[in-house]
Amino acid sequence: MAGSKTYDVVVVGAGVFGAWTALALALRGKRVALLEAYGPGHSRSSSGDESRIIRMGYGADEIYTRWSQRSLYLWKELFATAKDESLFQNTGVLWLAEAGNVSLAATCEVLTRCEVKFAELQRADLIRKYPQINFEGIESGIYETESGVLMARRCVAAVVAIGRKTGVEYRVAQVITPKGSGEISQVETTSGETFAARHFVFTCGAWLGKVFPELLGDRIFPTRQEVFYIGVPAGDERFSPPALPTFLFKMDESYGMPNLESRGLKIALDKHGERVDPDTQSRVVSVNELERIRKYVGYRFPALADAPIVETRVCQYENTSSGDFLVDRHPDIPNLWLVGGGSGHGFKHGPAMGEYVAGQLAAPRGDPRFSLQCKRTVQQRTVF
Ligand SMILES: Cc1cc2nc3c(=O)[nH]c(=O)nc-3n(C[C@H](O)[C@H](O)[C@H](O)COP(=O)(O)OP(=O)(O)OC[C@H]3O[C@@H](n4cnc5c(N)ncnc54)[C@H](O)[C@@H]3O)c2cc1C
Repeated sequence: MAGSKTYDVVVVGAGVFGAWTALALALRGKRVALLEAYGPGHSRSSSGDESRIIRMGYGADEIYTRWSQRSLYLWKELFATAKDESLFQNTGVLWLAEAGNVSLAATCEVLTRCEVKFAELQRADLIRKYPQINFEGIESGIYETESGVLMARRCVAAVVAIGRKTGVEYRVAQVITPKGSGEISQVETTSGETFAARHFVFTCGAWLGKVFPELLGDRIFPTRQEVFYIGVPAGDERFSPPALPTFLFKMDESYGMPNLESRGLKIALDKHGERVDPDTQSRVVSVNELERIRKYVGYRFPALADAPIVETRVCQYENTSSGDFLVDRHPDIPNLWLVGGGSGHGFKHGPAMGEYVAGQLAAPRGDPRFSLQCKRTVQQRTVF
């Protein structure tokens, strides 16, 4: 029986962080079990939508720019192995902002230092290149040429499939919260199986606060986020790549991407919604948000004012107080690692996170930004 085997590492949760952590460890020769309650990239997970943006710009937060660069390289390497290069769509990413936007200026500086390819665009260039957008209030933009979109749900499935080929043992199982203090030797599942290992990594996304309620219940803030796909007019290529890139309107706190795989223009507001339970929150969009999005789409993309909504998703961010990731040991169980806090921007970083966690298990060095200690119980977002 698989439950009686001993592993080097048990990874709990097969979202993007868990899938890449398991693969990174297996590539380093570790015996790994990857346990997942529902399925890799399932509809209730944060990694479960069709698509996620991979961009290099992070304002002054150079660490995330460098992680994105490394991750894009590793994603592409994985897609070549999986023989499915459609998992990355090189749409380009267009940042748009009002005059004097400090974050845009900082982004330019960091992208230059990190040798990321990008172009700066002024209002007149933008109007000429993208006549399908209403640029009211926008003075300038940055276009990242090599960035784009990861086909998220399928990407996670591909990472798990390659992990299994590399030796990861994947199982559908819900792990029970380990009790007590001091090192643990095994975890137990709700069906009564046990999995023994030297290290345990809990990559449970928005569930981290449910699995460790006393420790993380008020340090991980799962928020409801609604996403809309707008049907583009028949025979009209203005909303598909290359005519329209992936876009972020900084001052509107909105983002979206062009019509990929013919599913429509995707659009959402980045503003945090209400606190939710990832198991039980309704996955049906609200009338309020639907009306807000309709109005907004009509404002920024006037030709889509009356376009139909063809698909919707309701997901959750798993925010930390600042938006910085969490990678740290459980304070009472030294061989148990807590990994998460993707905070609405984590997907792209899956590969770099996998490498980082594998490195931590081998020789902990602990970046203070990722520590549990700096995760507060009141949100004050600094990473975007
Ligand atoms: C609407 C939306 C838009 C986003 N846009 C972007 C974007 O454009 N670019 C970007 O980079 N990021 C984006 N993000 C953020 C990104 O998707 C998340 O940060 C990332 O997917 C988090 O991955 P995760 O593996 O930590 O969590 P999850 O994907 O939620 O995975 C956690 C897994 O753990 C499992 N689990 C939980 N408890 C247990 C247990 N007890 N036993 C076994 N398994 C368990 C769950 O079933 C789940 O599958 C967005 C997020 C949302 C919601």
